Amino acid sequence: MKGYSCRCGFRTVSTERRCPRCRKEMTAAEWPERGRVLSSAKLTVNNGGAPERTRIVLVAIYDGPKLVCTSEDDLSVGEEAIVYREDGKWACRRERFEQDQVKS
Ligand SMILES: [Zn+2]
Repeated sequence: MKGYSCRCGFRTVSTERRCPRCRKEMTAAEWPERGRVLSSAKLTVNNGGAPERTRIVLVAIYDGPKLVCTSEDDLSVGEEAIVYREDGKWACRRERFEQDQVKS
């Protein structure tokens, strides 16, 4: 993912170039789309219809910003998560190791 990194240590995926912390101009940066789960909470959202269960996960991208994501996986603190964009928002999931397919 792309974003901006500031000399003061602030990192963000927002498109705002000026650091909200020290007001200096930040430099473009890029980080891997994975990180470590800092917190994870189950939520029940009620949009008029049947209650929908979702999970809100705070992910610390390696060397990068912290992102609030939704997840369908029961991620717990300390686990590694893969983050991705879904409908313009951040979502994350547990890494799935797909088995190598044996070709005959
Ligand atoms: Zn700064």
